[in-house]
Amino acid sequence: MWQDHAKYCPLCRSDLEQRSVGGQVRPACTACKFVLYTGPAGASAAVVLDEDRKVLLVRRSIEPFRGDWALPAGYQDLHESPEEAAVREVREETGIGVEVVRLLDLQHVPDDPRKPANVAVFLCKLRQGEAAGTLHAGDDASDARWFPLDALPMHLGFPNNRKILDAL
Ligand SMILES: [Zn+2]
Repeated sequence: MWQDHAKYCPLCRSDLEQRSVGGQVRPACTACKFVLYTGPAGASAAVVLDEDRKVLLVRRSIEPFRGDWALPAGYQDLHESPEEAAVREVREETGIGVEVVRLLDLQHVPDDPRKPANVAVFLCKLRQGEAAGTLHAGDDASDARWFPLDALPMHLGFPNNRKILDAL
């Protein structure tokens, strides 16, 4: 990961060294008190159900799981709440406007090839006046469709997606 290759302090630009801080070896500045703490990424996923309890899935156009179907999801931006991230990702990947109903689950995903993540999974519904038929796949998605819960696509990306959908 990039943290392992960080060379310079972002505060004073002195060299970083690998040093034991708080019982773990971390990149730390040789001149000031800066320590590079890293943790899992914050991410959000959206379970959007329509009136017929069909679920909105997107076909991924990027790795990991390129070509598979998955819940709309993505990393949180720095100044964004988990709810806002879920709503934005649905808009970017499907063109649909949704609102959060409630938090369904918080899942730790340790095996994402990019970075471990904590994924907040939100149940969402269409915004008032939003038409379910007007899907426009975009951003990291090549297709977006509604699937009946009992007829999900064979290839579901991210093992946690299957667990989330099976629980509905
Ligand atoms: Zn420094």
